[in-house]
Amino acid sequence: MTLLEVSSISRSFGGIRAVDEVSFALAGGERVAMIGPNGAGKSTCFNLLNGQLRPDAGRVLLAGRDVTLMGPAQKFRAGIGRTFQITATFASMTVAENVQMALLSHHGGLWNPWRRAHRALRDEAIGLLEQVGLVPQAARAAGVLAYGDLKRLELAIALANRPRLLLMDEPTAGMAPAERAALMNLASRIVSESGISMLFTEHDMDVVFGHADRVLVLNRGRLIFQGSGEAARADSRVRAVYLGTGTTSGGH
Ligand code: ADP
Ligand code: MG
Repeated sequence: MTLLEVSSISRSFGGIRAVDEVSFALAGGERVAMIGPNGAGKSTCFNLLNGQLRPDAGRVLLAGRDVTLMGPAQKFRAGIGRTFQITATFASMTVAENVQMALLSHHGGLWNPWRRAHRALRDEAIGLLEQVGLVPQAARAAGVLAYGDLKRLELAIALANRPRLLLMDEPTAGMAPAERAALMNLASRIVSESGISMLFTEHDMDVVFGHADRVLVLNRGRLIFQGSGEAARADSRVRAVYLGTGTTSGGH
């Protein structure tokens, strides 16, 4: 089933067509990587999908519903989650409280008379912390977590909203290679188990080819390729974009 359908979205900044008539679709549960050199338009594309930016033209459907012009909060409620772009954690609250806050917001906030009892929220928060391997840290302040653990907390917070689509723009930026692999393995496993679709950007091609069912290649705002990682590596247009390394194995 098609979850996300992006039809010919464009966005310019001054004279620069940052995203130029880009179209693609994501199936339910599919994990797709968007790659391309710096300035290709990847982050702009993500911001058009998460509601930070509005497209100049084009249409975005989520499960058949037109979400093109929704802002970030509406998109989030519609099931488009994102991680690692905003630091959504509160340093002085514990790890468990941070997840409980996110759950409270998902279940309708403090003023919803039907909201879950405190204990139920706490159990649900611990369940999410189990998924990301943070139960041992549940009672610590979020502010003292190591960087890799903070990323895992952010993932738990994103999952608290029960997203149908998870957007991750350079989720592993600033992480050491071993940590990167661990975070992506975790995110990839959770989305697969939960049937969540995932769209991510990543510089490390091992991560891309290890976790993407399909690859989209952007260059100068245009989508120049979509297909398997294998086919991307063999494609002459994709290779041309990555000239300088001559291959897609070490570029951006
Ligand atoms: P990527 O994430 O692939 O590196 P970006 O989407 O960040 O690419 O940028 C695409 C193009 O749009 C670049 O030329 C960049 O300079 C330009 N751009 C991105 N955001 C803005 C902005 N807020 N204002 C002006 N130009 C922007
Ligand atoms: Mg970017």
